[in-house]
Amino acid sequence: MIVRRKSWERLNQMLDEGIRGEFTESRYDETELSKLEAKWKQFLDASVIARGNLEQEKENIKGMISDISHQTKTPVANIRLYGELLRESLEKSGAEPGQREMAAQICRQAEKLEFLIQSLTKMSRLESDIVAVHPKSQSIRKLVERAVEEVRPRAEKKEISLDVECREDFLAEYDEKWTAEALFNVLDNAVKYSPAHSCVRIAVKARELYGCIEVSDQGPGISEEDTPRIFQRFYRADSVDQEEGVGIGLYLAREILRKENGYIRVRSKPGSGSTFGLYLPISSQFFQKR
Ligand code: ADP
Repeated sequence: MIVRRKSWERLNQMLDEGIRGEFTESRYDETELSKLEAKWKQFLDASVIARGNLEQEKENIKGMISDISHQTKTPVANIRLYGELLRESLEKSGAEPGQREMAAQICRQAEKLEFLIQSLTKMSRLESDIVAVHPKSQSIRKLVERAVEEVRPRAEKKEISLDVECREDFLAEYDEKWTAEALFNVLDNAVKYSPAHSCVRIAVKARELYGCIEVSDQGPGISEEDTPRIFQRFYRADSVDQEEGVGIGLYLAREILRKENGYIRVRSKPGSGSTFGLYLPISSQFFQKR
């Protein structure tokens, strides 16, 4: 009985030492416990090697993505430049519409490729913590104003009104640059998927623990089936085929908010628009009244 209790105690100790990464074999004899210690040591060594390989793999992928982004910059910029020159010269020489359209396609596709490479690089940098998100306590109104101004030209093109309701300002914990990007992605979608002459509403609300920025549109809405999928990389609903996009914006938005200890939600009913909520941790109960 005493022997069994000792074995349990030693087993417990071995597990604790393994968890702390401090395990060393204490006996080298013919007992069962000694055999177990040897196996436990083998297992721990193998997991350290596996972890090391995984880290190395991650480093390789990071390096590869950064190389791709670096090496493709000049050729893509040149394709865009020569595409533009070609388009202009075809226009000046009065070329057939079909030929002008082909040149316009080269420009559009090169622009899309550039956007895709930039998004992939951002995604990989965020995932691998190369760029750190640095949340700090700051006004939520400032964030909303910045993102709204950025999307305004696109909204004006479609004559979509941006209705901002931010009655009270308060402090939330966020990284200004990255969170503005997350909010811009959501606003840009609201404008992109909504019909011309509709309205996009942005409402700022303070909850107990989070500050919420709600973006509501009068677009096509999202089906129940698509709702959990739209935050995945490269997912696009079949119904939005006619709109430009690569399916990364919401994935990035969710990653950014997650890194700030916030989150993003969507409520929608097909045919009745969508409401995206971006939740950021409130840093102070002290509301700055207008
Ligand atoms: P993209 O807009 O480039 O396709 P996103 O990651 O931003 O990529 O969005 C993923 C998908 O979510 C979109 O393709 C679309 O199907 C759906 N979606 C996002 N926002 C809206 C919206 N406001 N209304 C309807 N569908 C939306």
